[in-house]
Amino acid sequence: MSDCLFCKIVSGQVPAKIVHQDDQCIAFLDIAPQAPTHVLFVPRRHLASLNEATVEEKELLGHLMVTASKYARDNGIGETGYRQVVNCNRDAGQTVFHLHLHLLGGRPMGHFG
Ligand code: 5GP
Ligand code: ZN
Repeated sequence: MSDCLFCKIVSGQVPAKIVHQDDQCIAFLDIAPQAPTHVLFVPRRHLASLNEATVEEKELLGHLMVTASKYARDNGIGETGYRQVVNCNRDAGQTVFHLHLHLLGGRPMGHFG
């Protein structure tokens, strides 16, 4: 997707503070962090949202979740806790239409909101 911001970050056309890379995903610091730790875990392959994810993507989705959890443990927020969020479409406030998982931690968070 030539006009997709996160595809451009994946390909290196747009810079980001990358904190993890593997064959399936990359992770980089959110440009407008909502918590002391706010990292985006992004599949290398373009999927617009969770609505495009089928059973074919279950391994990829699991990979994002366990990779983010390992990052959390390795970066000192495993015990204190963290949240993983995937926003889908308008009511959830999705603004970048390349599937991504937010890892948020380092401060107490309200239950939902
Ligand atoms: P969404 O609202 O779609 O779930 O999350 C998109 C996230 O991408 C937001 O938290 C926003 O701050 C972040 N973001 C938007 N543009 C950029 C950018 O150019 N670089 C980085 N690192 N993060 C971005
Ligand atoms: Zn994309």
